[in-house]
Amino acid sequence: MEGEAGERIDLTLLRRHLGAAFLAVLLCAAGLPLSAPSAAAAPGDSRVSDIRAWTNEIYTRVAIDTGEEVSWQANTLRADPARGLPPRIFIDIRGAGIRDEILRRPVEVRNGLLRQVRAGRFDRDTVRVVIDLERESTYRVFALPGPFRIIVDIDGEGEIPPLPASPDPVVPPGVAAAPSPEDPEPPAVTSSAPPPAPSAASAVPHAPPAIPPSVESPRAAASPPSPVRKHRVRVMIDPGHGGKDPGAIGPTGLKEKDVVLAIGRRIREKLSRTGEFDVRMTRDEDVFIPLEERTAMANKGRADIFVSLHINASRNRRAEGFSTYVLSRGASNREDLELAARENGVPVRKLQGVKFIIDDMFTGARKNESLRLAKTVNDAVVRHVSHRYRDVQSLGLKQAPFYVLVGARMTAVLVEASFISNAREESRLRDPSCLDGIADGVVEAVRYYGQNGILAHSDF
Ligand SMILES: [Zn+2]
Repeated sequence: MEGEAGERIDLTLLRRHLGAAFLAVLLCAAGLPLSAPSAAAAPGDSRVSDIRAWTNEIYTRVAIDTGEEVSWQANTLRADPARGLPPRIFIDIRGAGIRDEILRRPVEVRNGLLRQVRAGRFDRDTVRVVIDLERESTYRVFALPGPFRIIVDIDGEGEIPPLPASPDPVVPPGVAAAPSPEDPEPPAVTSSAPPPAPSAASAVPHAPPAIPPSVESPRAAASPPSPVRKHRVRVMIDPGHGGKDPGAIGPTGLKEKDVVLAIGRRIREKLSRTGEFDVRMTRDEDVFIPLEERTAMANKGRADIFVSLHINASRNRRAEGFSTYVLSRGASNREDLELAARENGVPVRKLQGVKFIIDDMFTGARKNESLRLAKTVNDAVVRHVSHRYRDVQSLGLKQAPFYVLVGARMTAVLVEASFISNAREESRLRDPSCLDGIADGVVEAVRYYGQNGILAHSDF
């Protein structure tokens, strides 16, 4: 028989989901490795076409591409030292096939957090993707549409913010944090894993602490700040779009992807010149990078600040002005929802379907810091551009559900630097002086933010 069917009673079912997205917090439970793939034909049109991973020793994001929307569920298996099996997270995907190359080639990592990611056919109708961990970790799973992909964020330090009371009536809050009576064993750590940090493996299951109502992150609140920063403040600049995705296009053909890359390069140069920052970019050429990869690059690179750069557009050709956003579960008006949908590459109706996850992923984490930085950025950008032009409008600090900000572990903002759909603003965006003004504003805000001791990641 195919594999782990007999083990199902040991599993802790965390969440089941049709369509949109979801989550889970957990610690790992136990069982057998995935069985060898069977010869069963793919039962549906959907198939696992790729598995991508970004990882360091405390963070991993795994993306499972299925293209079409699929039904899936996430579960965990505890380590089984007697059989040499590590803790595992697995995702069962129903009604989907899988590309043969993925069956043959597990993604090997072995970096202290993630051991490997492998996949196979669990039964005729189910593809199972198994994430072998080096040690017990918290994780969350959610899905993004257009194209459909399942995202697993794994945190080796328990830093993913705790779940608030879920607004999703299907999923009772706290279900993943309840002890499983069938699994009374203590957490097992495989022989190759490093000694567990007290905060990461002191108990099973992991009960996340309440979020302190302060501007500090849970991690910063839990450990005293180091007096000496071991690295310069790290900034990840994210010029939006690129490659096959031009972003918004102005009346005379100016492309958002080109403008934001030019601004990003200016910011990098100006920030680097100060000697205070380690500046990186998600892209430095005209290439397409999926939204979830941009966030993963910032997390993997342990950025302190993430700035995603965009240019707004509207059907109303007179719409104008600068705004800076932080992530939120919804938008306060139709324009912001349409903007987020466009930036996310999905129809508005799809965006409405996933908004509750975003709330889970972000509530309390670094929102206060992000709000503060966003306001500082917007004020500074408007001021600097106003030195060069008259009648520069500020639309202010705003919030909307941008996928590129979901799961970001650092202070993260998204700048919409005027409207490329507005003929006057488009012409300004062709002016290097305007791009310099925008970059100068971002640089000033980031420097102010970095110098005022708000950053919590002081012990890297
Ligand atoms: Zn954009």
